[in-house]
Amino acid sequence: RYPALRTPIILRNRTESAAAGLELPHRLLMGSMHLNREHSSAQLTAFYTARARGGAALMITGGAAVSREGAGNAGYFLINEPEHQERWLPVIDAVHAAGARIGVQLFHAGRYAFEDSFGLTPVAPSAVYSRFSRTTPRAMTEGDIQRTIADFAAGARAAAALGFDAIEVMGSEGYLINQFASPVTNQRDDAWGGDAARRRAFGVAVMRAVLDESHGLPVIARTSGADLIPGSSSDEEADELAVELASAGAAAVNVGIGWHESRVPTVQSMVPHAVWARVAARVRTALRTTGLDTPVIASNRINAVDQAERLITDGACDLVSMSRPFLADPTIVATSFAGDASSVNPCIGCNEACIDRSFGREPISCTVNPRAGREIEFPIEPTLAPHRRTVAVVGSGPAGLEAARAAATAGADVTLFEADEQLGGQFLMAGRVPGKEDFLGTVAYFEQELRRLGVQVALGHRVSEAAELEGFDQIIIATGVLPRQVAIPGIEQTDPSGPNILDYAHAFAHPEEVGPRVAIVGAGGIGVDLAHFLVTASEAGSDSAEIQARNERHRFLVEHGLAAGFPPASARAVTIMRRNGPIGAGMGLTTRWAAVQAIRAAGVETLTGVDYRRMESSGLRVGIDGVERLVEADTVVVAAGQVPHTILSAELSNFGISHTVVGGARDAADLNAVIAFEQGLRAGDAA
Ligand code: SF4
Repeated sequence: RYPALRTPIILRNRTESAAAGLELPHRLLMGSMHLNREHSSAQLTAFYTARARGGAALMITGGAAVSREGAGNAGYFLINEPEHQERWLPVIDAVHAAGARIGVQLFHAGRYAFEDSFGLTPVAPSAVYSRFSRTTPRAMTEGDIQRTIADFAAGARAAAALGFDAIEVMGSEGYLINQFASPVTNQRDDAWGGDAARRRAFGVAVMRAVLDESHGLPVIARTSGADLIPGSSSDEEADELAVELASAGAAAVNVGIGWHESRVPTVQSMVPHAVWARVAARVRTALRTTGLDTPVIASNRINAVDQAERLITDGACDLVSMSRPFLADPTIVATSFAGDASSVNPCIGCNEACIDRSFGREPISCTVNPRAGREIEFPIEPTLAPHRRTVAVVGSGPAGLEAARAAATAGADVTLFEADEQLGGQFLMAGRVPGKEDFLGTVAYFEQELRRLGVQVALGHRVSEAAELEGFDQIIIATGVLPRQVAIPGIEQTDPSGPNILDYAHAFAHPEEVGPRVAIVGAGGIGVDLAHFLVTASEAGSDSAEIQARNERHRFLVEHGLAAGFPPASARAVTIMRRNGPIGAGMGLTTRWAAVQAIRAAGVETLTGVDYRRMESSGLRVGIDGVERLVEADTVVVAAGQVPHTILSAELSNFGISHTVVGGARDAADLNAVIAFEQGLRAGDAA
């Protein structure tokens, strides 16, 4: 399997002799991820060792800032500071002992640095405000530029001395080198700006300085293939920079996509898998046309080994870099190479526990694998004790699934009860939302994993009384949530000629009951998802042909419109509204804007500051800023939050039966999938 991926490759700087270079046994890399856990040597060791054992050919660290002013925040690894360097020695040793390789990414955030990190004003080619860091940087002087180039060179020296196997120079995603290359952020008129060639000069100077100090380590140029910022570098200019970096001697070109300020979704779940590989292919063609055979690495939203194999076979790239999939499943390479790709826990592109936390300067993990980044806290050591405990888990949403998996992994004898005929709970619902089809992959993974672990699964079995759970050593209640009711005069639907009134769960399950004019009461994450579902989905449900069609539509729009990578407006008129706060409040930092942009682009009307007055025969009467208005609707769907489903846990408590409540059944107000999986892990692990 995977003959293209499994063809070894040597990464070698063009400036090195044929005898030099780093041989990789296969072509799948783990890309750079800032963990916000860089202060713990032990945790870093556990994190990277797990992925090394999982088969990554080469792992690239999160950004290693070459100076304090270049750090994205105070949690960054500062490669030129001795105390930080020492922290990485055990990590490098452990990765090597596991038979893998680790490269360091030299990094300077430029105007993406947060001013409050070290109390330093961020620097950049020009003083152009950054919406990402909410700072206006100081324009770099000639002295600043020379010092920064020297900082990169010092970082390369340190990398070689520490024993890293490779170096990557971060020049994409809108960081400093990318800022120099772009006319949007480089408004200089000197040796470092004024035309495209001078804007490239800084990146090329950094690359030469790093190569000079690399001591034979291969240097990968991470460069932007498409900034996705209005007025920024053209494709031709991006290609030209890649050509110059390769000509300078880079061992490989890793093609990044999009800036953090871009308003084109690049890695969200709605973005089709591998869609950006076409940019890597374009860069590769530019290199080959110039006679350069420098290997090209594709990245961004590639999340399965099969996809990686296809990209290499198609000639889009020579290697593939995946990052988040290694969070979701550290063993993705080894498991896939062993012929068991369906046993991989897939990344669902939610960003909630990884990128959102990283941008929020919190330690990252993974929604579907809450052990990620916490390998010390949650080691996988099946106890398989001689007297196995019996554990009942009631409910199979994210919390219940994870609790069952964790308990079985810890050696317990687990029975999972689910009232529905399918596992998955809220994830089944989410999987029907356009662009969230990957959520169904999580359910499929858990089905297989629970089978492998020997969990008894009782589908269609509603545990209706506490007595059924007697005899289990431990009981975990994950019964989830119920839709919250809202008090609007007339919503009891006494008028048979009035709108059909449904809750969100029913609307998701039975879209055929939803008419052509819909008012959605409530606009948190579920309301936005529901609007997206109703405005785009056919009433037929989500069979595979429909999923395929949706993906194709997304693919086409992203490829051809970029800024309009969303589905077309549907015949259904949908209005979504809420009393307080913005549309999509509570959704993740990197997903809310994309989802709200998507539903607006699809024609959904969004209303905030709404005062619900009464139901009328032709819709919902509301007030907005004191002005009355009728939102015409034949269907009103209530998506105004959830309440815990507590009937069973209350009964257990009444009988004095010990149990643990997790997920929405415990707290529906602040619930999200990250918390649900984590609570499931903690309860199952303790079983
Ligand atoms: Fe993927 Fe979500 Fe996990 Fe991030 S948190 S790695 S996006 S599944």
